[in-house]
Formats: sequence, C-alpha cells, structure tokens
Amino acid sequence: MTMSDTLHIKSCPTCGSDKIKRVVRNVTRKYKSQTYIVPKVGLYDCPNCGEKVYDHEAMLKIRAYSPAYRKVEILVEA
Ligand SMILES: [Zn+2]
Repeated sequence: MTMSDTLHIKSCPTCGSDKIKRVVRNVTRKYKSQTYIVPKVGLYDCPNCGEKVYDHEAMLKIRAYSPAYRKVEILVEA
C-alpha cells in the first residue's frame, strides 16, 4: 500500500451532502489588499452549502502563487 495526499471525499464535511464533487477551476485568493488568481486548481465543491475543500496538491499550488511566498522564491533564485 502507498500513502497518497489525494483526498477522496464522498460527502461534504460541512453539510454532509453527497453532491460534493471534484472540479478544476481558477481560484481567486486575496493576500492583504492584493488579489491573485491561481489557474486550474483541483478542489471539491459542494453545490449545497458552497463549501470548498482543497487537497494537499491544491494547497501547494495556491501557496506557490501567493505573493506572500513569491518573495521567498525570489530570494532563493538570487
Ligand atoms: Zn456542503
């Protein structure tokens, strides 16, 4: 058996709806007053209550696009 970071969600953790499903979409996030868009993020979206669940891969991707971490990347490159 291998460990996986991929979530397999069958029901919404907030409302319990089984309508929650995995979608891929652009995610708009805010950092301080700055808005940034993360393209094609895989996430679970519940049409019943609007809950969104991000798996580990999605969180890493969102973090990579965040202005909060961009500074660190520039330092590493230099
Ligand atoms: Zn829900």
